[in-house]
Amino acid sequence: MVLIADGEQWTDMREKVFKVLAASGQPLSAYDVAERMSGVMGRRIAPNSVYRILDLFVARNLALRVESRNAFLANIHPGCIHDCMFLICRDCGRTQHMDDDKTARTVRQAATKNGFVPSRPIIEVLGLCGDCSVQGG
Ligand SMILES: [Zn+2]
Ligand SMILES: [Zn+2]
Repeated sequence: MVLIADGEQWTDMREKVFKVLAASGQPLSAYDVAERMSGVMGRRIAPNSVYRILDLFVARNLALRVESRNAFLANIHPGCIHDCMFLICRDCGRTQHMDDDKTARTVRQAATKNGFVPSRPIIEVLGLCGDCSVQGG
């Protein structure tokens, strides 16, 4: 794994957090992950320790953070760096990951034009997913 290549330990705990996240395929909060891990491991896992690991995953690009949900999504393309965007369904909560480098660049340039030094744009679109919009909601 990437963490090992970096000289960091890929601990049992980290592996379990990543597995829970990857298996979900949807953004999970630290509480969600802790809840699921407590079930798997048969003992109480503190959301705080999960949160630290999730933060590390984000720093290592192994996970993406969905800011408006305070949730984390396993990164399916850890090798490439994008300003990831999310389409979030307000009905079923399904979150779709989207990359659009052109839009990201436009936002970065607009920030720069305003004398601001952007670290990364956070673009999350609320609305209805394909399934929910078909149901006429
Ligand atoms: Zn992305
Ligand atoms: Zn939906």
